[in-house]
Amino acid sequence: MDGVYKKWKESNVHVLNHGLHYGSCVFEGIRIYDGKIFKLEEHVDRLFRSADLLDLKIPYNNLEINKVMYELAKKQNVLNGYIRPVVWRGSEKMAISAIDSKTHIAIATWAWPSYFSPEKILEGINLTISDWARPSPNSAPVDSKAAGLYMICSLSKHEAERKGFDDALMLDYRGLIAEATGANIFFTKKRKLFTPIPDCFLNGITRKTVIEIAKLQGLEVEENHFKPEFLEDCEEVFLTGTAVEITPVLSIDKYKFTVGEITKLLINEFNKVVKD
Ligand code: PMP
Repeated sequence: MDGVYKKWKESNVHVLNHGLHYGSCVFEGIRIYDGKIFKLEEHVDRLFRSADLLDLKIPYNNLEINKVMYELAKKQNVLNGYIRPVVWRGSEKMAISAIDSKTHIAIATWAWPSYFSPEKILEGINLTISDWARPSPNSAPVDSKAAGLYMICSLSKHEAERKGFDDALMLDYRGLIAEATGANIFFTKKRKLFTPIPDCFLNGITRKTVIEIAKLQGLEVEENHFKPEFLEDCEEVFLTGTAVEITPVLSIDKYKFTVGEITKLLINEFNKVVKD
């Protein structure tokens, strides 16, 4: 935390920090597979980009952060787990404008095998469409992994879980399919893969990896804009993200899907890539 190794219980912030009150906070979610940090440079680059979009100046460079990630994972003996770097504006000033406040950074890691249980992954999950919409690029810094953007994600997921679903599908401000609350989405139709253009939500690192894998497997991938009705005759649907990896989706409200060959093939290939 701010350049010093601290015990979990001692890694605290003041209650009057700007990140907590005004949402000036960005973070990353990164996985460690067998001691190797997956797509480390891409995640750290995104952390810097996210911070920049929120006018936060991280007082270290990318290489220093990359190095600390490995040191920390080693120190904590995390072989298969998760790394959470978080960057926030400090407590110097309790006001909307806090231009001269310090930017802080902390990095935590813990062992964490899977977001959904292995049985749940193969079983597939059930989603419901949220009433909350992903904002337009001129309403929020949509390319930033900013804590504030997760407010509507938590609200959507809470509501979905209370109704008995596993997660929510969010449409965007135009009513087009966007993503789940913490993951991107793919669909298949007649052995072709489709995924929404990430023009108002994160272009996930897992999403990009899955597109590469799919193309290498000879699958055609179309990035486009899709209305919810597109789901009508989709055969397979799955989510992608650092936390969820590739998780098949069985239903989105009235639309039903199967955990089919394409999803299984991509899960298999993805599992090879992350351990490569
Ligand atoms: N969208 C949202 C809202 C997310 O939180 C995540 C997880 N970071 C993703 C998409 C997927 O991104 P990635 O594959 O880079 O983890």
